[in-house]
Amino acid sequence: MRKLELHWQILIGMLAGVLFALAMVQLDWGPKFISDWIKPFGNIFINSLKLIAVPLILGSLIKGVSDLKDISKLSQMGGRTIGIYIATTVIAVTIGLGVVNVVKPGASITEATRTELVENYKGDADAIKNKADKQQEAGPLQALEDLVPSNIFAAASDNGNMLQVIFFAIFFGIGLILIPEEQASPVKKFFDGFNEVILKLIDLIMLAAPYGVFALLAALIVESPSLDLFKALAWYAFCVVLGLSLMLCVYLLMVWVFTKTSPSAFMKGMSPAQLLAFSTSSSAATLPVTMERVEEHLGVDEEVTSFVLPIGATINMDGTSLYQAIAAVFIAQAFGMDLSLSAQLGIIVTATLASIGSAAVPGAGMVMLVIVLAQAGIPEAGLALIFAVDRPLDMCRTVINVSGDATVSMVVAKSIGKLHEPKVKNWDDNYKK
Ligand code: ASP
Repeated sequence: MRKLELHWQILIGMLAGVLFALAMVQLDWGPKFISDWIKPFGNIFINSLKLIAVPLILGSLIKGVSDLKDISKLSQMGGRTIGIYIATTVIAVTIGLGVVNVVKPGASITEATRTELVENYKGDADAIKNKADKQQEAGPLQALEDLVPSNIFAAASDNGNMLQVIFFAIFFGIGLILIPEEQASPVKKFFDGFNEVILKLIDLIMLAAPYGVFALLAALIVESPSLDLFKALAWYAFCVVLGLSLMLCVYLLMVWVFTKTSPSAFMKGMSPAQLLAFSTSSSAATLPVTMERVEEHLGVDEEVTSFVLPIGATINMDGTSLYQAIAAVFIAQAFGMDLSLSAQLGIIVTATLASIGSAAVPGAGMVMLVIVLAQAGIPEAGLALIFAVDRPLDMCRTVINVSGDATVSMVVAKSIGKLHEPKVKNWDDNYKK
């Protein structure tokens, strides 16, 4: 496997995992064998990625911000990043609404299927609604308040608090710019070295990626619901996948127009991160690999990746917002509701905000969908309709979430002269010397 390129190795791992699981489910003891003896390796792989997310953000962002040497550059980059993130999200929601209104997947759901789905998944839908209710109880400025941690160690000890860690790292980096060079230099050197170590750990973890995705996909296959349910929801799933594919075309076009990078170079550079996003369904778990690929394989300067990508992983979810728009209108169609133009425009706003608020973990988009449904007056019980196919669609939308972050970081880097020739580092570069 050594000479084969990483994305091929990962693809082979995924395929082998699926085939292995399909063979194992034929045996009585197969599914239990996979949950007891294969799935844990997938979990270990995801954990090892999550393990380095917080140190990576701290190390690279502190280094990245202090390298800027000038606070006005930071605010310039920050403004552009947030502006382009919001613009791509609005494009994604609009594409989603366009597709779902043309294809009308909800119209093909029969009364019997609807009742069956609602009954089967009522419990799961209620659990999601409860989670969403808790989030909704918060006041209007809660998100802003949550941005500032009262204790950095408490913030860094929870992977769900990425934005707080990002806030601290930027704040610390600004402090580092403002103190005299003499005192700043050893601190900067420490974080430079720290950051290099973390990047090396990512290389090492990626050596295990083909085996990790094998285990993840095998576990997913034995846990997935029956094929009949998938068929009933085929049109809906088709709409989501079609919308996501169109969004990918938008990214390729943006990268080509703004940075003159060919679509194939972008896809080749990003494919290991995209495949990992697909296998883990989490942009947060994929973040370390996304950062490494964008920096080393697409040539974006670390000053930009360290700032744009961690923020993107937490707030920029174009795939999620597109899916939320399609799911909301699909549920409305399935319940025989006709959504007015103003209700659909409202969906653009709420889906954009809901995707910003979604955590970068599996299934988070569905929790925030509750808010989109409530705002548009669509029955929340409709969540049960789409539950069966949510996981595979979550895998697909996470690929788009990650690709969107990479696209924006390239565009931002180009606009401030920080896009270079890619320089790939292998895990054993120094070791060999
Ligand atoms: N799983 C997605 C992500 O991590 C979020 C979601 O749409 O559920 O990017």
